Amino acid sequence: HSLFESVELAPRDPILGLNEQYNADTRAGKVNLGVGVYYDDQGRLPLLQAVRKAEMARIEAAAARGYLPIEGIPGYNKAAQTLLFGQGSELLASGRVLTAQSLGGTGALKIGADFLKQLLPESKVVISDPSWENHRALFERAGFTVDTYPYYDAESHGLNFSGMLQSLQALPPQTIVLFHACCHNPTGVDPTFEQWQQIVEVVKAKNLVPFLDIAYQGFGDGLEEDASVVRLFAQHDLTMLISSSFSKSFSLYGERVGALTLVSSSKEESTRVLSQLKRVIRTNYSNPPTHGGTVVSTILNTPELYTLWTEELAGMRDRIRAMRTQLVQKLKDHGIQQDFDFVLKQRGMFSYSGLTAAQVDRLRDEYGVYAVSSGRICVAALNSGNLDHVAASIAKVLA
Ligand code: PLP
Repeated sequence: HSLFESVELAPRDPILGLNEQYNADTRAGKVNLGVGVYYDDQGRLPLLQAVRKAEMARIEAAAARGYLPIEGIPGYNKAAQTLLFGQGSELLASGRVLTAQSLGGTGALKIGADFLKQLLPESKVVISDPSWENHRALFERAGFTVDTYPYYDAESHGLNFSGMLQSLQALPPQTIVLFHACCHNPTGVDPTFEQWQQIVEVVKAKNLVPFLDIAYQGFGDGLEEDASVVRLFAQHDLTMLISSSFSKSFSLYGERVGALTLVSSSKEESTRVLSQLKRVIRTNYSNPPTHGGTVVSTILNTPELYTLWTEELAGMRDRIRAMRTQLVQKLKDHGIQQDFDFVLKQRGMFSYSGLTAAQVDRLRDEYGVYAVSSGRICVAALNSGNLDHVAASIAKVLA
């Protein structure tokens, strides 16, 4: 009799399943738009020059690998805060902001969720409908009930703003509300700044707890521009949590680089909060790994490397934008009847294409073009070599 006899097989992760199917596909022109990563124009996962240089310097320094502090590398945490709030931020000078290096954005969400469960055991969590597929599972696993607020409007390929605002207005105080601070995954649809101003008013008036997830800073309009929502919330004197991911912006997916930042109401409060957050970390994985954090910290704290990185990040952002423009143009060239201009308004790596599950099936089966059944495509996986085939295939399934 085995201890594990009653263990049931967990459902397959739909996106990983898609990747397996793609890998097994022997057709030459196959294209994987189901992924959640940035590929360069040659279809490769890039290793950034800035990362390479920082890694060389690290090897050169031949540093020993002692344990890091529980909350991670101080220079990393400081730099993560500066990316969020800007150089010379008064908020940072006030000592109200505390940060812990985390195992990617996922790790930041998880230690944030564990900390919140201890603080607000009765609160519910709400996430956008739809949201990144791990949000719900992660908060449920931390013990929360998770509901959704209206977000995407399929009709307009945009935001259901009135639905969203009404839903937020009806939430009980201290409900934890997860927002995507920029480049919404999976839809690519973000509120406008004016809409965010209204959202912040509701969050403040209803005493909601904002948890801002920023996994694509630099992929929307720029590093500073993409932090504007975080800064807007901070200007309203809200206490909040922010999960940052550097997986995409440094193309360091496997190094698990992220940060959890909390904004408290005083320096003294920050000291207490950090001490509790450290307990959460200590009982999870003790302290974060050194390599990815050192690389990111070196880049963010070395002016030449920082400049190089911002240029490489701008290159990724510009290439995605060019792919959006070219996809829309090529679809027009193929004479499609539908208006795809909404793709140009979306931000970040993804687009909700509006393709139905049946059309996604046809794209895969007949043309070897893989997308998520929701119609989500990764625009960052388009390149000059596959764009023609993708546009022609989409035009055919739309005809
Ligand atoms: N949050 C969102 C919205 C994401 O899209 C992702 C990654 O896809 C994450 C968090 C997690 O990022 P990481 O890979 O750094 O854990």
